Amino acid sequence: MIVDSSTVEADVTLAADVCVVGSGAGGSVVAAELVAGGKSVVVLEEGHYWTSEDFTQREEEMYPRLYRERGTKPTADYTVLVSQGRALGGSTRASFCLCFRTPRQILAHWAERFGLSDLAHEDLFPYFTRVEERLAVQDMGPAELNANNRVLKRGAERLGFRGRFLRHNRTDCLGCGYCAIGCAYDRKNDALTTYLAAASTGGARIVPDVHVEKVRHERGRVLGVTGRLAGTRTGKSYALRVEAPTVVLAAGALESPMLWFRSDLPDRQRLAGRSLHLHPYLVVAGVFDEPIAAWQGIPHSYLVDEFLNLDKSVEGGYLAMAASALPIATAALLPGLGRDHRRLMNRYARTAAIAFFLHDRTRGQIQADSRGQAMIEYRLNDDDKRDAMSAMRRGCELLFAAGAKSVVLPYNDLVELHRRPEIQVVEERGILANDPLFLSFHPQGTLPMGKEPKRSLLDSFGAAHGVTGLYVADASVFPTSVAVPPQISVMALATRTAERILRAS
Ligand SMILES: Cc1cc2nc3c(=O)[nH]c(=O)nc-3n(C[C@H](O)[C@H](O)[C@H](O)COP(=O)(O)OP(=O)(O)OC[C@H]3O[C@@H](n4cnc5c(N)ncnc54)[C@H](O)[C@@H]3O)c2cc1C
Repeated sequence: MIVDSSTVEADVTLAADVCVVGSGAGGSVVAAELVAGGKSVVVLEEGHYWTSEDFTQREEEMYPRLYRERGTKPTADYTVLVSQGRALGGSTRASFCLCFRTPRQILAHWAERFGLSDLAHEDLFPYFTRVEERLAVQDMGPAELNANNRVLKRGAERLGFRGRFLRHNRTDCLGCGYCAIGCAYDRKNDALTTYLAAASTGGARIVPDVHVEKVRHERGRVLGVTGRLAGTRTGKSYALRVEAPTVVLAAGALESPMLWFRSDLPDRQRLAGRSLHLHPYLVVAGVFDEPIAAWQGIPHSYLVDEFLNLDKSVEGGYLAMAASALPIATAALLPGLGRDHRRLMNRYARTAAIAFFLHDRTRGQIQADSRGQAMIEYRLNDDDKRDAMSAMRRGCELLFAAGAKSVVLPYNDLVELHRRPEIQVVEERGILANDPLFLSFHPQGTLPMGKEPKRSLLDSFGAAHGVTGLYVADASVFPTSVAVPPQISVMALATRTAERILRAS
């Protein structure tokens, strides 16, 4: 059942076999699998329970509802704006539904470098399949290409770059294009409508509007959690306590390490929060003569993976996909001020946009700021800067090849190119702090798995080294960038974590 927080008028104490903190890709899967295995489960979620009826398709209303810090949490030097969901269902409520399995080469690298030899692609195959069946993952095809994706495909084909249709967890999509602010038609098979629904039906108690403050533990054993519940009718907050011998952290890669810090969980090597990868992306836009209307239709249906060659190197490279282009987000992200910005917005309907996602080697860090909030330190290293410059050059080539009349680069001031040779500007300007602007939907890696307790916090099942009953099942657990959009990787590993919890008890 999903608890209605407007009915709460006093402090609350609950008891369960397992308490899951966070209800996104990781938390929802663990909850559903454990309930199916006969466990009593409480799920605590900081965000609110929004249903598709609340999804107004208005950005100014939906970003504050669905996202942490309205969707734009900047890194300390403002180079990257990080978006994370904050709602029942977590970031999957805002997802674009792209489904990628963890690349085989990345898993082989984790085995070799971090001793995670039981996570080979063959080992994870049944978990990928199980998750994909549950989410009804299917191939996109020509019918799902909007004009923006057609531009990317055309440019890639003319230049001979490798590309393919993507796989998605959406069913009977109407192509309205508002995925990033919640599906008003419930056509996304996200965490809420799949796994959490099953967990709820199976008897899990799911409590939204709860900020979990601490994991309680004593002598190396977990006892439960404490937090505050926002009574949405009274406007007061109430103490909440859950007694549980097993706690699963699934608060996402920015907040799970914060819980680790606040709870004084053991970390002799000071590893928590330290190996943050953002899978950052930048957007290159092209202005065409014909209408593109990039805000309409399925935002991403085609992928160019020519520049991510994991057989050659498991580090570096990037993926290219069309970019979602809702009007407020586009206006906020387009460069230039005043007249320059207006000239661009006047051509919004004829503008195509390509996003380049870097498989980043940079390791950032999450720390608590003076108010106890997560602060993100992340400065692109030279290798990633080189990839970012290469991505901007490729963006320019792709868009001109597809017929763009001009190309706009993501610098703060307006840099609009009218011919391919002008792309040398990228070398002249380089990559500075906060110029160009990067975005991130995929933070990961802040509580990494590994065989060696000296170099990692969790084993390959997400069980904490040295704290009985504590598990992590979210995007924090990857020891490196996973190179592709992460939801399927998170869900497959979370399924395995749930299996381990069932076996352990
Ligand atoms: C706009 C957007 C689009 C995306 N599109 C795709 C895509 O198409 N394909 C893909 O593979 N990936 C996509 N992603 C990424 C994917 O959704 C995430 O990688 C994945 O959901 C991460 O799962 P998680 O369990 O780590 O965290 P989340 O799904 O973010 O869930 C964490 C939850 O924990 C809650 N929480 C945090 N702190 C606390 C606390 N102290 N107490 C209680 N609850 C707390 C949060 O509110 C949140 O709901 C997208 C992400 C965004 C933001």
